[in-house]
Amino acid sequence: MACSKDHSEIQTIMAGLPVDQGGKGRHKCAACAYELGYRDGYNLSEHINLTALFNSLEESQAKEQRHKSPHAAYAQGYYDGVKDFYLNR
Ligand SMILES: [Zn+2]
Repeated sequence: MACSKDHSEIQTIMAGLPVDQGGKGRHKCAACAYELGYRDGYNLSEHINLTALFNSLEESQAKEQRHKSPHAAYAQGYYDGVKDFYLNR
């Protein structure tokens, strides 16, 4: 299945991510990985299973998230979520 979510709000972030050269997260939707990372970061989650998380993602051939590293996307999302957690306290 291909991801059909509207990721238009994070296209600038997606454009800045490194390209995945056929690693573990190949073709998985990096925009969804970012959003899950953001959620986990905002919640300061400490028990994270990236294998299960990436397995749950849809694939994506669309827009700026195409072929982008889901690892980098998750990490960027996590960091942005942590930052917003502290900003919104
Ligand atoms: Zn997606």
